[in-house]
Amino acid sequence: MAVKTVLVTGGAGYIGSHTVLQLLLGGYKVVVVDNLDNSSETAIKRVKELAGKSKSNISFYKLDLRDRAALEKVFSSKKFDAVIHFAGLKAVGESVHKPLVYYDNNLIGTIILFEVMAAHGCKKLVFSSSATVYGWPKEVPCTEEFPLSAANPYGRTKLIIEEICRDIYNAESEWKIILLRYFNPVGAHPSGSIGEDPRGIPNNLMPFVQQVAVGRLPTLKVFGTDYKTRDGTGIRDYIHVVDLADGHIAALNKLDDPNIGCEVYNLGTGKGTSVLEMVKAFEQASEKKIPLVMVGRRPGDAEIVYASTGKAAKELNWKAKYGIDEMCRDQWNWASKNPYGYGSAENSSKKR
Ligand code: NAD
Ligand code: UDP
Repeated sequence: MAVKTVLVTGGAGYIGSHTVLQLLLGGYKVVVVDNLDNSSETAIKRVKELAGKSKSNISFYKLDLRDRAALEKVFSSKKFDAVIHFAGLKAVGESVHKPLVYYDNNLIGTIILFEVMAAHGCKKLVFSSSATVYGWPKEVPCTEEFPLSAANPYGRTKLIIEEICRDIYNAESEWKIILLRYFNPVGAHPSGSIGEDPRGIPNNLMPFVQQVAVGRLPTLKVFGTDYKTRDGTGIRDYIHVVDLADGHIAALNKLDDPNIGCEVYNLGTGKGTSVLEMVKAFEQASEKKIPLVMVGRRPGDAEIVYASTGKAAKELNWKAKYGIDEMCRDQWNWASKNPYGYGSAENSSKKR
């Protein structure tokens, strides 16, 4: 079979870098475009190191998706079999304060990408959606058929892009599109060479826990202890980022199915874990105590969210392999080797 070439937008980022590595190891050629707004070129360098013999199969272009001319140039230089589209801003709180920045970056960037893809006859796409499109689910597990809603501008960009994808497929059935709704990606590559390196103070649970463990932050605030859950704290479906990356390879394979149109799949483990359970697993993996402060609920937070995994298992032939102990082990391995991520103590508070 001919070697496939995949364009990965946002491939220097957390999920992107792990996926690019799995693609290289799986024999794909990869072109990454990223503006490095929330990432570092060091991630690409480390991916190359981990890819061994396949390291010559990756090229990187620093560009913003909204720079149509620059994107055109990349598409003119190579023929892509498919695009995996990770690039976007993802901080929920920031999106509430700066909605136009989010609409501009996520929506305009995506529309320009789709226009350039269409102009070059590349109509196969895997898009990073999110469980956030389920809003506050009335029941769990969340199946792909659940009603959709947006609780903030970030979530709205995901919802709008999903709708755009459905519309372009309806208009032109040549498009083959897979929308992947990720649950809560955590952990890092087992080598400890690549991992999550958020800008500023982290919003998400595990990057925050990690920074407390390495002494960058003093305490973890537990948002809400009065939920109707086993221990009163919120429940989520945490998924190892390497499992998530492998889910993208499964989705790429599915794009070769002649019957696929615009399909959506959850990528989660199907298991719910509370905040306190996750902290305990991390304490065991790191042998560090995480000091906690119990505070009120974070506005907008759902109580319990976890995935129904049956559709991905049946149709993508993909299932998550790792549990929370492995997630915490690998997160700690990355954190202890890279306490300041890809940077140094001096530039760790860089802001957009
Ligand atoms: P990330 O911030 O680490 O990666 C996103 C990458 O996109 C970054 O490297 C950033 O520099 C780049 N980027 C942003 N805007 C760009 C633009 N206009 N042009 C070019 N590059 C641009 O985030 P991640 O956690 O790897 O998430 C990847 C995707 O998955 C995002 O779309 C995110 O919304 C989605 N997602 C993430 C999570 C999560 O919890 N991490 C959950 C669900 C969905
Ligand atoms: N959480 C917390 N303290 C933090 C960050 C998150 O207690 O500093 C809780 C949050 O209320 C939720 C869970 O951890 O119950 C996961 O939060 P995260 O922001 O990582 O994911 P999301 O809520 O977007 O699924």
